[in-house]
Amino acid sequence: MVIDAGLNVPAFFTSRAGGISSAPYASLNVALHVGDDARAVAANRKAIEDLAGVPVSFMVPNHGITVAHVSVAGQEPAIADVLITTTPGVAIASQAADCVPVLLHDKASGAVAAVHAGREGLYAGVLDAAVAALLDIRGGWTARGEMSASIGPAICGRCYEVPAQLRQRIAERHPIATASTSWGKPALDIPRAVEARLGQLGFSHITRQRACTFEDPAYFSHRRDGTTGRQTAVIVCP
Ligand SMILES: [Zn+2]
Repeated sequence: MVIDAGLNVPAFFTSRAGGISSAPYASLNVALHVGDDARAVAANRKAIEDLAGVPVSFMVPNHGITVAHVSVAGQEPAIADVLITTTPGVAIASQAADCVPVLLHDKASGAVAAVHAGREGLYAGVLDAAVAALLDIRGGWTARGEMSASIGPAICGRCYEVPAQLRQRIAERHPIATASTSWGKPALDIPRAVEARLGQLGFSHITRQRACTFEDPAYFSHRRDGTTGRQTAVIVCP
């Protein structure tokens, strides 16, 4: 299953379907660090490149705010939670399994970005870092309304249970992340907080997938399954 990201450039989110990895990574896992067979991951990445129509650069996320610029198609991935490019024909990807994949397009400059926005990345300012990089490319901080964002499938606020102290820490910066699970425990709604922060940062056009990776077995969920794969968000610089 491939979900169009609804941006004005080629951009999509994948589910578990369409790859060759075996359980617990079945089947379209793109992450090398989770214990899957490297040949299977390579084949899955090739399948995603076929969907994108061009080579794809994948990130090595580490829940930080590092931004890596990609200028060559298929460039080796950097340890970063934001990939950004202005080179036509270059595709970049983020991967996640409950964390929030975000794709950004700045119509003014033509730049695109792929972001891995988990709980700690959001808290540390990964979205702000991505937007700062986009605005640096523009050379100015005007007319942010031309920036579009698409938020991919992630664990929802009814499912993402956390200790009360952790909820409180995140809520100090993102009050809107405060949530409770469907079973009445403290929780965080990271996708909702991501959407709100993008709005604050000036995005006029934001689309958000409502699928919950924890609830929907079509997606990888680290919280649900522990050892598992990662799904992908891909955007191509036009
Ligand atoms: Zn949920």
